[in-house]
Amino acid sequence: MNPLKLSERLATVASFIEKGSVLADIGSDHAYLPCHLVKTGAIERAVAGEVAKGPYESAVANVAKEGLSNAITVRLANGLAALRTEDTVETITIAGMGGTLIAGILEEGKARLEGVKRIIAQPNIHAIAIRSWCMDNGWTLVDERILKEDDKIYEILVLERGKGTFSELELLVGPFLLAEKSPVFIEKWTRELEEWKRVLHAIENAGHSEEALNKKAQLQAKIEMVGKVLSN
Ligand code: SAM
Repeated sequence: MNPLKLSERLATVASFIEKGSVLADIGSDHAYLPCHLVKTGAIERAVAGEVAKGPYESAVANVAKEGLSNAITVRLANGLAALRTEDTVETITIAGMGGTLIAGILEEGKARLEGVKRIIAQPNIHAIAIRSWCMDNGWTLVDERILKEDDKIYEILVLERGKGTFSELELLVGPFLLAEKSPVFIEKWTRELEEWKRVLHAIENAGHSEEALNKKAQLQAKIEMVGKVLSN
């Protein structure tokens, strides 16, 4: 590991962490992000939370190898159970998991968010679950990014406290990303649209059960909604 060099994905997550803020990185396999931020002087201390024993041990070993054990506390914990009141965490990062899992971690641990000012989430899929959680729980989006690295497309969502109200389309594709409509955004939703059309075609040949009809209606609605975005 070179703690001074992050992937573009994690560097983009890092770019939203305010200098000097106290960080909790949840799902901190290897603890790359906190190690990088402390090494480069962006932050002074962090908690790295990890639920699985192997990645937890990798995180502990990396933090020790980098000589950062005084600055980074690694805890074996499920989600936000890694946070303690005395940590005074201000920023949380949760990266590299599915959006449904990230939203579940936030929902399950929301009582521990007191004092937290910003959450930076990088879902690999289903960002919609995080936008929906945010709207239902007194948080809002203050920024979003979309980027492509090694042929994978990633979204990064920046949440702060506030009242977010998003349309169905904004929940799906992201209000900031929709306003920007970058080439990567177009590529992502063109790929999704093609996949939905393929599934729709498969369902059309697969009978008329209630489940199939519901799925078909949902896909048709998404195809129409996103199709309009791409053709405008
Ligand atoms: N955050 C790093 C990144 O973005 O490169 C690591 C991503 S890795 C694919 C996801 C990590 O999250 C795994 O190490 C997994 O064990 C951990 N994880 C999954 N669910 C978790 C939970 N509920 N609490 C803490 N860690 C979790």
